Amino acid sequence: MNKKLYTCEEHIEIALDEFVDQLTLAPEMEKITSPNEKCFFCQQQARYLLSICEEGESDAHSTDHSR
Ligand SMILES: [Zn+2]
Repeated sequence: MNKKLYTCEEHIEIALDEFVDQLTLAPEMEKITSPNEKCFFCQQQARYLLSICEEGESDAHSTDHSR
């Protein structure tokens, strides 16, 4: 499962809380410059992208490594 959330500077902490609350994981925080993304909370221009990449192997359940 991947989850992404755009947020402005003001709401970054709330967003972090959301993530930790719902997913019990701390997300990656990436600064963005794209003017097209809007904050999830206030619809201002977003400054950060929070994302969670589920860690682990990309192949979910491969028991052996044949190629
Ligand atoms: Zn905001």
